Amino acid sequence: MNINPPNPSEPPQGRPTWVDVDLDAVRHNFHLAKQAMKATRLPGQQIAIYPVVKADGYGLGATPIAKALHQSGADGFCVATVEEAVTLREAGIRAPIVLLAGFSRPQAPTIVKLELEPLLFRADEARYLAESANPKQPIAVHIQFDTGMARLGSSMDEALKMVHIIHQTAGLKLVGISSHLACADQPTRPENLKQVQKLRAILSHEGFANRTLRVSLANSGGLLGVPESHFDWGRPGIMLYGGSPFFPEMGWREAGLHAVARWHSRIIQIQTLDTGTPMGYGHTETTTRPSRIGQLPVGYADGLNRLHSNRKGWVAIEGVRAPIVGRVCMDLTAVDVTDIPAAHIGSEAILLGGDEAGIEPDVEEMATWTGTIPYEVLCRLGQRVPRRYLHQK
Ligand SMILES: *Cc1c(COP(=O)(O)O)cnc(C)c1O
Repeated sequence: MNINPPNPSEPPQGRPTWVDVDLDAVRHNFHLAKQAMKATRLPGQQIAIYPVVKADGYGLGATPIAKALHQSGADGFCVATVEEAVTLREAGIRAPIVLLAGFSRPQAPTIVKLELEPLLFRADEARYLAESANPKQPIAVHIQFDTGMARLGSSMDEALKMVHIIHQTAGLKLVGISSHLACADQPTRPENLKQVQKLRAILSHEGFANRTLRVSLANSGGLLGVPESHFDWGRPGIMLYGGSPFFPEMGWREAGLHAVARWHSRIIQIQTLDTGTPMGYGHTETTTRPSRIGQLPVGYADGLNRLHSNRKGWVAIEGVRAPIVGRVCMDLTAVDVTDIPAAHIGSEAILLGGDEAGIEPDVEEMATWTGTIPYEVLCRLGQRVPRRYLHQK
């Protein structure tokens, strides 16, 4: 992908549909995470931030975002899968990479070779790693506890089995303990502090009390809303990409975040239609007045959800909201520009953004159209849409 086009006003590769990813906005959001963490630092305590770049950086591009954040002081990165870690290593990222979501036995040699730091939740995983571990090049592992989410995480019994295996294996060293918050999107819920207490109890257990272990609990919601959850290193995800971890109770602007993604397209045709003209697949809409209908070369294959059809969603054209009309197709989407006389062939359409004036749909509005959360809106941006990186250094 050409990520540094000579003329920034032109879309990459010439296709008039692309996503701009503002790396300065990512850096701003990263500094907010870091500031939050610093604010609760105890005297002499080292803190670290490991940005979560799983799912290709929440759909926006793990490699360029990780490179930008490494320059800005990120201490390491978190990914969900071994494949995601391989991609980062192949791109030349040598920083520590934490593997959040487990691995299978055939993947263990890759973890050892690339020196990934897995969060372990089953004793089997420690055994798989022990099979490929290299005493001359020991790798760091963490134990992930379930402290109340009832998702991935080990019990104390399972953890003690792992400690035993790790101790017997010269190629493995236990460096940390971690867990994940279930209700950090609502920071005042009592479950958050219960999980903190549970993690503290684990740390004072005789199996762990006398070790120097690096502890992590906080995701974005924990970093911004639950100071007690900070411990030694933070794992911010959604906030880096401009999504509020507190949606829908608190929006991204109120949380002080900057919008990162702006999804562009351009009108490639405008038809003038008489009243009573049926439009698009299934003729689901019929014009109720003489209309100007624009076509955008973007569709559900690009991640524009088909549930935006029939005026559920809109785009911003020439500073005005233009409703999506008829059914979103695989490669094309129609918009009603009757009330936008300035709209012409070549007019830019912003499908997702977050301008000051509030004309462009932001991740929260788009999430609302389909009853989802900003995380899913970003992750579903299609692979077919070129990404362009602004403010690359
Ligand atoms: C995805 C994930 C995160 C990041 O969560 P956000 O809510 O996006 O900040 C942190 N930790 C784990 C274990 C995760 O799976």
